[in-house]
Amino acid sequence: MSLFMPTIALRKVTDITPEILKKLGTDAILLDVDNTLAPPDSKIPYEGVQEWIDRTKACGIHIVICSNNFKKRIKPFADSVGLDCVAMSLKPFPFGFERAKRKLREKPQSVLVVGDQIYTDVLGANMAGMRSILLLPRSEEHGWSIWLRRKMEKGKRKKIKLYGEDEG
Ligand SMILES: [Mg+2]
Repeated sequence: MSLFMPTIALRKVTDITPEILKKLGTDAILLDVDNTLAPPDSKIPYEGVQEWIDRTKACGIHIVICSNNFKKRIKPFADSVGLDCVAMSLKPFPFGFERAKRKLREKPQSVLVVGDQIYTDVLGANMAGMRSILLLPRSEEHGWSIWLRRKMEKGKRKKIKLYGEDEG
């Protein structure tokens, strides 16, 4: 199994259903923010995200935001959607996931990482022994480092089929 392959791939975070979480054996979710819950640096979540968070929490799933962005960006956003957070998590390195896992007290295999990037979210999850869901990036992005990572992702994304969607 490649370190760059997610457990499954979906279009958007709101496509994650209780059935999928049950199938993956998920008790807790580590959630990315930029391009996963909201456009990069936006305070306003994508449509349906708040309802999805509330619904998922009501199923007894613990959710912690785990982002590489700065605390001054992530903390107010996490507060506004009612979630705990770990900022500057340095994904794909294990530091942030470890900090989040201590808050959760879960085994790695029952923790699901959700995000839009192979080289941070998916690679980090695989190295930590966690499951992962890769989402499609939704908003326009700026800056050379994300441009480079998207370029590196391209060939790998071609091999990843969206869960529940047939080809053709
Ligand atoms: Mg992201």
